[in-house]
Amino acid sequence: MKALHSVSDLVAAGLMTPDAADAVRSVADRYAVALTPYLRETLAGRTDAADPQRDPLYAQYVPSPAEAYTAPEEREDPIGDVVRSPVKGIVHRYPDRVLLKPLHACAVYCRFCFRREMVGPGGEALTAEELDAALAYVRDHPEVWEVVVTGGDPLLLSPRRLRGIVQALSDMPHVGVVRLHSRIPAADPERVTPELVEALTAPGLATWVAVHVNHADELTPPVRAALARLVEAGIPLVGQTVLLKGINDNAEALEALFRGLVRNRVKPYYLHHPDLAAGTSHFRPTLAEGQALVKGLRGRVSGLCQPTYVLDIPGGHGKAPAAPAWIEEQDGEGEYRVTDFTGRLHDYRG
Ligand SMILES: *Cc1c(COP(=O)(O)O)cnc(C)c1O
Ligand code: SF4
Repeated sequence: MKALHSVSDLVAAGLMTPDAADAVRSVADRYAVALTPYLRETLAGRTDAADPQRDPLYAQYVPSPAEAYTAPEEREDPIGDVVRSPVKGIVHRYPDRVLLKPLHACAVYCRFCFRREMVGPGGEALTAEELDAALAYVRDHPEVWEVVVTGGDPLLLSPRRLRGIVQALSDMPHVGVVRLHSRIPAADPERVTPELVEALTAPGLATWVAVHVNHADELTPPVRAALARLVEAGIPLVGQTVLLKGINDNAEALEALFRGLVRNRVKPYYLHHPDLAAGTSHFRPTLAEGQALVKGLRGRVSGLCQPTYVLDIPGGHGKAPAAPAWIEEQDGEGEYRVTDFTGRLHDYRG
């Protein structure tokens, strides 16, 4: 079975009606579309033909007309990656850790993606020289203890290229941890082969993988098997979830997801409030709604099942827990004051 890369492919695969496809053509021209063969098969087996966008898996990947609307507060670079990039492929926001982004392509294109203006199939990967320069930046900054490899999706790289990055980092004595963020275990579980898993570890370096999963239904048998291959290779897993209206913004869905993750040896790490990415307002609950949901989880599930609810402060100021101690509502109307990790205050609307 082939991967799908356009709205026409979705129609040909029976996942969209021609009318629904016509309604999203301009959206799909602006924001990339892709489904892996695995997801194509999974969606075909579960989609409610009358209103497929009600399916929490389908709605994460198949474009909807709502994306055509860009809300006034939405931004092209919602979390300020560009302003914090000292060399191509590196984002250095916190003293002790950097992001390394070796490529901008993904196996799937999530409709709520916070980097949607940057990721895509044409999205540039670092050339060999650029990757060397990015690694040299890490080598020259002894304060960097943790390297977060993200993208795009780093697990789209070949095992050979991944091994090269991991080896280079393990050769830097000040780097203790490499953390790879990926959607691949949930979107293309067969890609998590023993060879790929093996490429992620090296002596003298702790490898962690953060898997992006938003709904318990994503934890199918092939996905659970992929997670097990990583864990059984000695790689601790943490979970990264985006709080999404219509997909997981209710207590039952969050409970099932976090229990499912812990049951599969994935510690829920962050529950992200959706970033202000263009054309994603239909996915964004309010901060007050998110806070109420997270508060409700306290009594329902164990501490192992509790992620930290976080907001990435627009403008490149880093993440702040989206709890009242960090985020203060200013006389109602969705105006907030957020404290960043240095103690500085920022206005936020949401
Ligand atoms: C999210 C992020 C990190 C990692 O932050 P943690 O809170 O340690 O997960 C590092 N650098 C940048 C630029 C980030 O956006
Ligand atoms: S896999 Fe990650 S980077 Fe890629 S589209 Fe989805 S959210 Fe964005």
